Amino acid sequence: GKEITRLPSWLKTNIPIGTNYNKIKEDLRGLNLHTVCEEARCPNIGECWGGSDKSAATATIMLMGDTCTRGCRFCSVKTSRRPPPLDVHEPENTAEALKRWGLGYVVLTSVDRDDLADGGSRHFAETIMKIKQKAPAILVEALTGDFMGDLAQVEIVAQSGLDVYAHNVETVEELTPFVRDRRATFRQSLAVLKKAKESKEGLITKTSMMLGLGETEEQVMDALKELRKADVDVVTFGQYMRPTKRHMKVEKYVTPEEFESWRVKALEMGFMYVASGPLVRSSYKAGEAFIENVLK
Ligand code: SF4
Ligand code: SF4
Repeated sequence: GKEITRLPSWLKTNIPIGTNYNKIKEDLRGLNLHTVCEEARCPNIGECWGGSDKSAATATIMLMGDTCTRGCRFCSVKTSRRPPPLDVHEPENTAEALKRWGLGYVVLTSVDRDDLADGGSRHFAETIMKIKQKAPAILVEALTGDFMGDLAQVEIVAQSGLDVYAHNVETVEELTPFVRDRRATFRQSLAVLKKAKESKEGLITKTSMMLGLGETEEQVMDALKELRKADVDVVTFGQYMRPTKRHMKVEKYVTPEEFESWRVKALEMGFMYVASGPLVRSSYKAGEAFIENVLK
C-alpha cells in the first residue's frame, strides 16, 4: 500500500510531566534500572506515573539488559546473538527501588534472551520474589517472551508469586510471520498463555495486540476467539506506530471509534477487562485497571 505520512489528530499528544516523574527518574539513575516508559518515550507516562492516586501508579521496568536475541519487524530494541551477561544484582536492586517509590503496580518485562538456558525465567522469578518480600503491597505483572515454547519456564515465572502473567500475541495469526521474529508463532504464544493460567489458581492472564498492520476484522475476531479458548482474561488494543523507516509500515490508522468498538466486542466475548485506544500500550494504566476490575 501507499505510505501514510500524516498523523491523525488523535495521535498528537503532549507528554504531561508531574513531580512524581522527576523523583522516579532520580531514583532510577542511582540504581541502574531502566524503564520502558522512558526509553520508549511512552506518551502515557504522565498518566501512568503521575496519576492522582499513587497506589494505582504504574511503571514498566525492563530486566535483563537492552539487547534482544530476536528481531521483530515492529520493534526498535537493539539485537545481538550474544547479549552481555545478566546483572546478578538486578533482582535485589529492582525490589529496593520499588520499595522506595511506593508505586502501586509494576510491570516487569524484558528483551528475549534465547541465549540463556532458561530464557531468564529464574531471573524473572527471583525479582518477583524479592519484590514481594520487600514491598508486599505492590502488585506485580510479568510480561514475558515465549521461552521458545518451553512451558516449564512459563511455570517457573507463573508460580513465583506474581499477580498478572502477560504475554503479547502482538498481531493476528495470519500476520504473525511478517510481524514477529520467525521463532515466534501465534500457537506457541497461545500455549504460553494457557500454561500460565493453569499454573496457578486465580492468576490473571493478559495479552496485547497492535492494530493497523493490515489485519482484517475477521482475523481479529478469530484471534479473540482463540484467546478466550486459552482462558486469557485481559486484552489490550493499541495503534501500531512505526519506530523508524527501517520498520514495517503502518497500513492503517484505526480510529478511536473503531478501538471503542473492539473494546465492546471483546467484553461481550467474556474478557474480564479490555483497554483499547490509539495510544494504549500493554501496560497502560494497568494498576488502575487491576484495582477497578479484579480487586473490587
Ligand atoms: Fe522487540 Fe520483544 Fe521482539 Fe525482542 S522479542 S525484538 S524486545 S518485540
Ligand atoms: Fe510505562 Fe506502559 Fe504506562 Fe507507557 S503505558 S508509561 S510504558 S507503564
